[in-house]
Parts: sequence; C-alpha cells; structure tokens
Amino acid sequence: MNKVIYFLNNNFVEKDRAVIPVNDIGLLRAYAVFDYLKTYFSKPFHLNDHIDRLFKSAEYIGLKIPKTKSEIREIVLELISINKFVESSIRIIVTGGESPDGKKKGEPNLIITCEPRNEIDKTFYEKGVKIKTVRDYREAPIAKTINYTMAVKYLSEYFPQGYFEVLYVHNSKITECTSSNIFFIKGTKIITPKDEILPGITRKIIIDQASKFFDIDERDVYLHEIYDFEEAFITSTDKEVLPVISIDTHYFNKGIVGEKTRKIMKLFKSYVDSKIWFEN
Ligand code: PMP
Repeated sequence: MNKVIYFLNNNFVEKDRAVIPVNDIGLLRAYAVFDYLKTYFSKPFHLNDHIDRLFKSAEYIGLKIPKTKSEIREIVLELISINKFVESSIRIIVTGGESPDGKKKGEPNLIITCEPRNEIDKTFYEKGVKIKTVRDYREAPIAKTINYTMAVKYLSEYFPQGYFEVLYVHNSKITECTSSNIFFIKGTKIITPKDEILPGITRKIIIDQASKFFDIDERDVYLHEIYDFEEAFITSTDKEVLPVISIDTHYFNKGIVGEKTRKIMKLFKSYVDSKIWFEN
C-alpha cells in the first residue's frame, strides 16, 4: 500500500516523518490556527474560501503564515494528486513554532494533512440528531484556532449519551455548536445566529442557496425561542446539512425530520452536484 503523504513547511513527507518539536507554542499554549476542507469529485470544495479564512484566523491571533495564498492552494492540489484517495479530507495547520520559554513564538510551522474523506453515517441524515446545550462559548469565535479543549470534553461526555453535537449558549443566546453552525426554520423564515460564531463556509453556501426559497434572518437567537421554531439543522464541512430533531428535552416536528430541512439538504446536494463551485 502507498504511504500517506503530508506537507511540512517546504516538503512533501511521509506521514510518519511529519514531525515538529514538542516545544512548539501550538502544543504548549494552543497558539495555532487551522482550516479543514474536503473534496467532491476529487476536487477541493471551496478551497479559496478555506484559505481566506485560514489567513483571517491567523491575522486575528497575530500569526504569520509562511506561504502565500496561491502557494498554499498549489500545495493542497498537489497533495491531493499525490495521495490519490478517491475523496480526501484536508487539514491545513499553522502553529506558532518552537518557543524558547513557552511564552515567545518562533518560526511558524505549516502542516497540511490529507486523509481519505471522513464519511458520516447515513442514518443520522434520515433520523436526525439530538443535541445538548451547555453554558459556554468559544474564546475567539471568529478565528479557527486549534483550541477545541472544551469541545472535546463535552463531546466525550455527551456523545455516548446519544447527543451528536453540543450547542453553546452564552448570555441566553444560542451561538453555534462545537464544530457546526445552527439554523432554525419557522414558516418561510430561516433564522440563524449572526454573532459570536465561526463564519462557516457551509453556512454561507446554505444562506446563498436557501435565500432563493426562504427569507434569511441572521440575528441574535435566544434559547427560549426554540419552542417557537418548527425545524432545526446544523451545517459544517464534515456534516454538510444535518437535521436536528431535539435540543435537550425539546423535540422539533414530533422528532421527525421536517420537509423544509429535507429541502435544504437537497439544495446543498444539488449545489455540490452542479460543480459550479469548481473554480472557488
Ligand atoms: N463552528 C465551529 C466552531 C466549527 O469548528 C465549524 C467547523 N469548521 C463550523 C462552525 C462550521 O464551519 P464550516 O462550514 O466552514 O466547516
């Protein structure tokens, strides 16, 4: 079997050889950013958007990315063609580099990984998923830093209890899940939180596509409003559009995936299948 190839700083290397020093400030202080994308038809989906967001995340935390956007784009395309997976999941990570004292940053490390595409069990799309709220928030929501510490804690606690995702509620407002954006449907309206969220690439695509059929209401969303909503779904690169049947003890649409959510799922699939995003 061919070895999996990653990219590290200036070279394509075998996965086992993609190593960085353990005193990297990314490991010591979580001073690092990343972005995550996948392929359809063996082409990276919205690669430019993911690279743009990576640069924004890095700028937000004052981290310099050691390559240009177009260089990163070329490396990702080459990595996909070297590995030859049918479909790939790609992670671009930039860390703060070796730290002499655990406080100062060093020379950034650029790591790009490529693995066979992560697939989510189809039954979750048919039956929908349950989500659990926690009173918490991400420290710098606009930036995709590697700090998912509490996300890992919450998911390892709640996933075994049957919850697929954990939803952050901050000052009574719903923001986002540990690794997805959330949407609600009422009548002809799609309601989604606007602030204190990661600007999801899937979220943006859904807003664009769904606005042809629904009124999009991006605003503060309060937890008590869920009783008034008819349907809910979450979006992310990995999950695409995943129906939510309950939040805590409250069920939407009697626990059955609703027609409007199905329509949004279809819109996303048609968009992917249309291939009009190939140049994005
Ligand atoms: N919010 C958070 C906290 C996330 O980690 C993710 C996954 N990247 C998202 C939202 C969804 O973003 P995207 O659609 O770009 O994957």
